[in-house]
Amino acid sequence: MTAFFRVNGDLWVERVPLADIAARFGTPCFVYSRAALERAWTEFDAAFAGVPHLVCYAMKANSNLAVLNLFARKGSGFDIVSGGELARALAAGAEPAKIVFSGVGKTEAEMESALAAGILCFNVESAAELETLNRVAGRVGSAAPVSFRVNPDVDPKTHPYISTGLKESKFGVAFAAARALYARAAELPHVAIRGIDIHIGSQIGELAPHREAAIKLRGLVEALAADGIALHHIDLGGGLGIRYDDEVPLPTFEYAAMLREVFRGRPETLLLEPGRRLVGEAGVMLTRVTYLKPGVDRNFAIVDAAMNDLIRPALYDAWHGVEPVCVRDEPALRYQVVGAICESADFIARDRDLAIEEGDLLAVRAAGAYAFAMSSNYNSRPRACEVMVDGDRVHLVRRRETVAELFASESPLP
Ligand SMILES: *Cc1c(COP(=O)(O)O)cnc(C)c1O
Repeated sequence: MTAFFRVNGDLWVERVPLADIAARFGTPCFVYSRAALERAWTEFDAAFAGVPHLVCYAMKANSNLAVLNLFARKGSGFDIVSGGELARALAAGAEPAKIVFSGVGKTEAEMESALAAGILCFNVESAAELETLNRVAGRVGSAAPVSFRVNPDVDPKTHPYISTGLKESKFGVAFAAARALYARAAELPHVAIRGIDIHIGSQIGELAPHREAAIKLRGLVEALAADGIALHHIDLGGGLGIRYDDEVPLPTFEYAAMLREVFRGRPETLLLEPGRRLVGEAGVMLTRVTYLKPGVDRNFAIVDAAMNDLIRPALYDAWHGVEPVCVRDEPALRYQVVGAICESADFIARDRDLAIEEGDLLAVRAAGAYAFAMSSNYNSRPRACEVMVDGDRVHLVRRRETVAELFASESPLP
């Protein structure tokens, strides 16, 4: 079931034609479906019904306040990776006691603000971070709740830039070092051991890498228990893939069933950190064709969105579906769909057969995750607006940036 479908050839979201949204708010514009977002969260949570668990949405995938607030209202936890994300999550109504803090480079200032907020857990990624966290917590007179992110050395078989659980990765601590680190943490006065954590990568299509990592993790949890280290939770990270092209996403219930099986009999609460799976397919990016440029070798459709709005094609060679919002009864031509930025990597899609004319509106599918959140102002382009549709209601959840805002914080020399 999808919230985006065609009515007499025109693409709609819930009960609203996408063309109306573009006419009202302009392009480029990200459009999210409230129903799709809520359905994705509820489906994920329900897959773990009956086992103690907490879904901590990995908010770096899409950190718009309206998206965060929807999930917070459902009781979601959040996985944050910076002090900025902490502030955003709190502003959106997140419960601090459901926030986990991941990332290899937490600063002392970020640790202080997370301790002051009273988060659930710091996912510690190095011995050096542990010592710093102990010192910072001592300074502010508290004890920091900690997990170690361990690196199971599992190949998630996804793009190298989003593989995070191989031994050569910068993330986590080596499995072999984990027991000594827990022993060290147990000695420190200002940290409290809470859990253990993995995250092996993103856009993972298969169950096997998840299972391999989970089985290794269970072994480690048992070794720690034998050492007298009891944990409150086991955090499995995120990584479930979505459908961009013809991928068949791993059903959440299969993933959940595997974890139930692997951790059967263990008393710890399971933490899950899905990002892409909760938001990716709930959004599209609308863009308009500025020019058609027939080439000697290839035809270009130059659109008003670019790599600053959607960097995934340039960064990961990612594939996004591109469709005319209103279909034309004309023969299609093969196009390179590109932006206006002065980089050859500035493409949205390559080799697509489209029946389009100048001024036509295109929908770039599955643009709810790692899309707006990774956008920039390169080439002094204001960032796009974001809209959330709820039935027949349309809410502007982030207005388009203005050109004046782009340099309002800069100043020439006196
Ligand atoms: C990015 C990230 C996630 C979410 O990954 P998805 O592939 O979007 O589910 C979860 N946990 C950590 C630590 C991450 O860095």
